[in-house]
Amino acid sequence: MAYEIVIGLEVHVELKTESKLCCGCSTKFNAEVNTLVCPVCLGLPGALPVLNKKAVELSIITGLALNCEIAEHCQFDRKQYFYPDLPKGYQLTQFYHPIGREGWLEVNLAGKNRKIGIPRIHLEEEAGRSYHAGKGIIDAEYSLLDYNRSSIPLLEIVTAPELHSPQEAKKFMECLKTTLEYIDVSDCKMAEGSLRCDANISVRHRGDLQLGKRVEIKNMNSFRALEAALEDEAKRQVSLLQQGTPLQREESRAWVEEKGRTLFMRFKEEPHEYRYFPDPDLLPIEIADHWIQDLRSQLPELPQIKRQRYLREYELPAYDGELLSSSKQMADFFELAVQAYDGEPKKVSNWILGELARLINLEKIEFGQVKVTPGALAQLLTLLDQKVINGKIAKMVFEETFYTGKKPEAIVAEKDLEQVSDPKVIKEIVARTIAAHPLPVRDYLRGKKKALGFLVGQVMAETKGKANPEMVRDLLDEELSFLSRS
Ligand SMILES: [Zn+2]
Repeated sequence: MAYEIVIGLEVHVELKTESKLCCGCSTKFNAEVNTLVCPVCLGLPGALPVLNKKAVELSIITGLALNCEIAEHCQFDRKQYFYPDLPKGYQLTQFYHPIGREGWLEVNLAGKNRKIGIPRIHLEEEAGRSYHAGKGIIDAEYSLLDYNRSSIPLLEIVTAPELHSPQEAKKFMECLKTTLEYIDVSDCKMAEGSLRCDANISVRHRGDLQLGKRVEIKNMNSFRALEAALEDEAKRQVSLLQQGTPLQREESRAWVEEKGRTLFMRFKEEPHEYRYFPDPDLLPIEIADHWIQDLRSQLPELPQIKRQRYLREYELPAYDGELLSSSKQMADFFELAVQAYDGEPKKVSNWILGELARLINLEKIEFGQVKVTPGALAQLLTLLDQKVINGKIAKMVFEETFYTGKKPEAIVAEKDLEQVSDPKVIKEIVARTIAAHPLPVRDYLRGKKKALGFLVGQVMAETKGKANPEMVRDLLDEELSFLSRS
């Protein structure tokens, strides 16, 4: 029997503000524990909050980038529950009036562009951080608490249950992360927790109208973990369906990386159990139209639009367009290099997605850390076009530019790498090579065309790789056909 997996995501993004949501404490990551706190974010009696305008602004920007309707009026509610990392006993969130609604993000899933619904985004605050000693969150011996993170502004982005495989969920997250990086509202570092994601997953018989009971999975801190956890949970739910014992109650499970499994945490509460009510300390927020328009005008070109422009303007294949636009830094690099270069944009793309990406992966660094400048790449391509260097030398020069930041022209001059294109010089080496290798020459003349490659290699080696390879091939061919006639 066929099963359908249904996945919705709840993404939490720490907004890039200097200070917390309702106090002046710094949002710095990794400070000494419990040093970035004050009466407000510790929830001491009598402390009153003052809302951080920047957090609202970054939320509006995100809403606009995700095609949401921005609320004219929103407010904060208290979500009440007890947990040691929540000193106030409630979390500020926007339950009744979220800042954005009815948005979507276009994602390329299996070669097809699909708009994944984003029914709501809302602003809330972070809890503190628990450090579990012992065997991890489920069977910790004791826990330590750090309130530095308490009340950092957090934006929750909720997707519709429109993703149908762990791979689609991962792809959506990658695409969302790219968008958030473009608009620069968050660091988006999954390892540091500034981008997190919980997933709701259920499985049903294909064709069923009713969704199955869903399970919420937490504790995934990489895209790979998200995919693996969903794979594991989908498998578990399918096997429950097969045994005729589908889930009866919604539950939360934690992804345990070392075990490669999701483990039961608790049954889920219903929303009404949190006793949400409007926060009496914070005034409602009125969002004027001109404020929205002003922020809209500051939005950069978003990745989906950029990708389409690359195909149109630079005649790149869809594959190149998607990869280049998947990182703002890479896209900026590409555009600057194209500006500095007279040749085809596709060549620029080939070098970025080929050699540059290869070296970045090899060195395990971020795109932003590379020493090659767009101008240097343009210079290298120009040297190639002008046949000052050949393709093989170009790779060598590029590698040196990558590691040292030196300009290609300087490397070529310093190491005397200019291509040997003087036919007289090459002819001489060709003649010497033919004389020195009678066996391959005989093979070639008897029809073994492969032997030509060996001879080309010999000539190239003699010029330390600097000869113009086309010229070598032509001249060898010429000499050999002369021999074959004589
Ligand atoms: Zn504070």
